[in-house]
Amino acid sequence: MSLRNYEEDSKQEKLYREMYKNQTLKYVIDQKKNYEQFGVIKMRMFKALSLLDTFVDSSDPDLYLPNSIHAFQTAERIRKKFPNNKEYQITGLIHDIGKVLYTFKYPEWSIVGDTFVLGCRLPKSMVYYNLTVDHPDRDNTELGIYEKGCGLENLNISFGHDEYLYMVLKQNKSKHKLSDKYLDIIRYHSLYPWHSKGEYRELMNNKDYETLKNVNEFNNFDLYSKEDDAIITDDIIDYYKNLLKEYFLEEILF
Ligand code: FE
Ligand code: FE
Repeated sequence: MSLRNYEEDSKQEKLYREMYKNQTLKYVIDQKKNYEQFGVIKMRMFKALSLLDTFVDSSDPDLYLPNSIHAFQTAERIRKKFPNNKEYQITGLIHDIGKVLYTFKYPEWSIVGDTFVLGCRLPKSMVYYNLTVDHPDRDNTELGIYEKGCGLENLNISFGHDEYLYMVLKQNKSKHKLSDKYLDIIRYHSLYPWHSKGEYRELMNNKDYETLKNVNEFNNFDLYSKEDDAIITDDIIDYYKNLLKEYFLEEILF
């Protein structure tokens, strides 16, 4: 089975057209500043997960299932390989919870899809690169506004479910037990030009190479596999409910 085939005239094409038009450096900076506007809804992680029951990600050509099923499947794939690494399993379970942005009326082009860096040249390996003609930012140098080796954490990456959940977890640090390694996996898991196409190497620092390894490993679990069970049993749900209770001590401010 081949994954991630992007066709013309599809809902993916429509989404990326909007994304490249609207995700600008200014937009991303504004979103990060706007973070204070979040933190309005307090809920347990499990509740946030259940909000994804009705959300189907239309950026993904391989996914027709509600995102909550994808969450359990990703976690289960990790559990099979790493039965003792609960932190990793939790990461699989929650990695897409940032998609709750859809309940705050965010447009899809600012929730899902591959992410990319603003403030420098758009790499040709991006999906639907031809649609970037509509992108308003015109910085065409490799480093753009950044310094060589400045590190991923200093980049302005298109704003979606990755960065949002990362900000939520950072903001609620005292309320969970996830370490930075896993927060970084969450933060960069959609940055396909970087983790799967070899882009942005000049912007990386030493630490980022470790993150790259972690994100690439995680990506194997995030993609689909033929052995996947679409049926999530009560036992599986109970297992993760308990894990969430262990790792998320109380309600989180979204
Ligand atoms: Fe995702
Ligand atoms: Fe995912």
